[in-house]
Amino acid sequence: MGCCDAPGLMPIEQAMDKMLSRIQPIEATLQLPLAEALGFVLAEDVLSPIFVPPFDNSAMDGYAIRIADLEQSNVLPLSGKSFAGQPFEGEWPQATCIRIMTGAQIPQGCDAVIMQENTEVTDAGIVFNQTDVKPQNNIRPTGDDIKQGDIVLPKGSRLTPRDIPMIASLGISHITVVRKPKVAFFSTGDELKPLGEPLEAGQIYDSNRYGIKPLIENFGCEPIDLGIIPDCPDILKQTFEKAQKIADVVVTSGGVSVGEADYTKDILEELGEIGFWKLAIKPGKPFAFGALENAWFCGLPGNPVSAVLTMYVLVQPMLAKLSGHTEWKQPESIPATTRTAFKKSPGRTDYQRGVYSIANGQFVVETTGNQSSGAFRSMSLANCFVVLERERGRVEVGETVQIQLFNSTLY
Ligand code: AMP
Ligand code: MG
Repeated sequence: MGCCDAPGLMPIEQAMDKMLSRIQPIEATLQLPLAEALGFVLAEDVLSPIFVPPFDNSAMDGYAIRIADLEQSNVLPLSGKSFAGQPFEGEWPQATCIRIMTGAQIPQGCDAVIMQENTEVTDAGIVFNQTDVKPQNNIRPTGDDIKQGDIVLPKGSRLTPRDIPMIASLGISHITVVRKPKVAFFSTGDELKPLGEPLEAGQIYDSNRYGIKPLIENFGCEPIDLGIIPDCPDILKQTFEKAQKIADVVVTSGGVSVGEADYTKDILEELGEIGFWKLAIKPGKPFAFGALENAWFCGLPGNPVSAVLTMYVLVQPMLAKLSGHTEWKQPESIPATTRTAFKKSPGRTDYQRGVYSIANGQFVVETTGNQSSGAFRSMSLANCFVVLERERGRVEVGETVQIQLFNSTLY
């Protein structure tokens, strides 16, 4: 059975293409102190202005020697020291050695460092117990890590805690990054109650904003929380008008499923041009995307799992493109063997929530249980999506499925 058996449903790849083909990266840039640049996307290649390390230095605490001296005698008197930040200065007499510490500059003429564990201090000098000494032993040469002029990070990378100290090692204090996209978001629904207040009949707590905000932040964007908006056309319209003035993207939850989509559609048609899609994914079928006058619009389904899932699967790549994050990668699929059965009917691609582990070097996966799109516990318990192909039916124990390990944005 193919997607033709689910008429009118748009494959997720097609939805993604439609979105991405329209988005152009933000061009505005800013200069930031390096310490504040975590999570920003580089607007330019980072080139190294220096060699790292900037001078030959010792990888060990020990003694700097000339190998030729050691070939004459294995006892060499000490004639000075080179400590980190305090290089050896002056003449280095033949047939002597220099005390040297890790990171200290290698004295001129030295062709090896002997680690102190292989030596003894005696009245006659330092006794070297190591016979086989190779040239450059324990010497970290200039530029060993990075050469002057190297592109250490390309434009379009998003700065991680691993990148920042590398840039710091180049002495670069400020860095040019792309301005973070501003993403305004709100929940819609008369039934929604803010946290901290008792529920009345028919009400539920608004959990979606608590799922959407951290994702916006983890995608490297700036969240603007516009709260809970009732299902009231006037207030909705005002909120959309305000949101699209202050943000690059407006994300809503709720109001896009059949029934509610009608009045949301009317409002949005006045404010821009929006497509209401029925996607061939489960959960997350209803989804809206389009352009308001000054901002993009993503309408997520209200069910909490669907909202977070469509944020992750569809809105994440779109925000990556908008951020200029060209180095962004789709989460990879890995084959895993099922340890539980997975309920499924053909027709849509399922993103079931699973828990993977590794047994005997192989990925295995089990379900988190209740897969209702309203049951958010299934997300909280999971560490991966079990992506079951459109045409696939029920999956039994022992079958192979594709899993997508959550990327860092869900941790
Ligand atoms: P809707 O897409 O508005 O038809 O909502 C679908 C389901 O999701 C309904 O059961 C809503 O009550 C629920 N829902 C909508 N918005 C939220 C929200 N912000 N937090 C939790 N549940 C929600
Ligand atoms: Mg609703």
